[in-house]
Amino acid sequence: MRRCYGRNYCSVCMPLAANVPEAEYPGWRRTTCPICGAACWETDFMRQIKATQPDTLAVCAMCAVTTTHVIKLELMFCDDILSGVKTFEVRFDDRDYQVGDRIRFEPVEDGMRVDHPVADRTYKITYLLRGWGLAPGYVAFAIKEDI
Ligand SMILES: [Zn+2]
Repeated sequence: MRRCYGRNYCSVCMPLAANVPEAEYPGWRRTTCPICGAACWETDFMRQIKATQPDTLAVCAMCAVTTTHVIKLELMFCDDILSGVKTFEVRFDDRDYQVGDRIRFEPVEDGMRVDHPVADRTYKITYLLRGWGLAPGYVAFAIKEDI
């Protein structure tokens, strides 16, 4: 499944535990961001929203202001991305990739989701190219791990 979360999507933003180390209100509970896995706080406000709008996605403050593309990655490329040898992607230009957007990979093999540690990393698009020898409808971009 292709997913793209970000600016125009989420309506609930969770405080990051890195920014707010202690619960500010009694109802706050520790959770993790479903996109980047960062520790954050589930708030009463968020639970109220989800009670009436179950499809609302609650993400951390960083993911709320940054578009994160969740894209499939063939297993044969996963080690090279993880080790930092492969720092570029050539993709169908079907989701408005922009410099600064973040990338999360879903490792796949023969069309099936597989486990690989690259799935736990987040990358950021640092450079992006359209045209210039690329077939129409394709984009190339450079990525760097977003720590
Ligand atoms: Zn996040």
